[in-house]
Amino acid sequence: MTAVSSNTEATSPLAGSCLCGAVRFEITGEFSGFYLCHCVRCRKDTGSAHAANLFSTTARLQWLAGEAQVSGYELPGTRHGRSFCSRCGSALPSRQLGGKLLVVPAGSLDGEPGVHPTAHIFCDDKAVWESLLPEALCFPGAPA
Ligand SMILES: [Zn+2]
Ligand SMILES: [Zn+2]
Repeated sequence: MTAVSSNTEATSPLAGSCLCGAVRFEITGEFSGFYLCHCVRCRKDTGSAHAANLFSTTARLQWLAGEAQVSGYELPGTRHGRSFCSRCGSALPSRQLGGKLLVVPAGSLDGEPGVHPTAHIFCDDKAVWESLLPEALCFPGAPA
């Protein structure tokens, strides 16, 4: 089955981890949105074309390993924040808006999030090179 259901199975937790494996976590519950943000802050933050974050006000986050390695950063004067592994720098889930909002970087999950992307946001801030991506070659693995 490759179909993605719009209803996540709340009973099965989603596993996630950082690149070095020091931090592991589990998310239980449903996401209310999956946004691809192209703003300048998210491009700096991720080093890529856009951030890809899942949002939930009801899901539960449980650290299974390495919670002490989880660092955070909030850009002063903004609501832009991120969590990351202090060893490898990988993006990790964070609680924002005073803890009310759980933000989970989609790439930090070990499997599929089980929800369709909701929307691209801050599209006016897209990097110019992003509009050229459809023209780029596509290799199944490393370029031959
Ligand atoms: Zn790590
Ligand atoms: Zn953004």
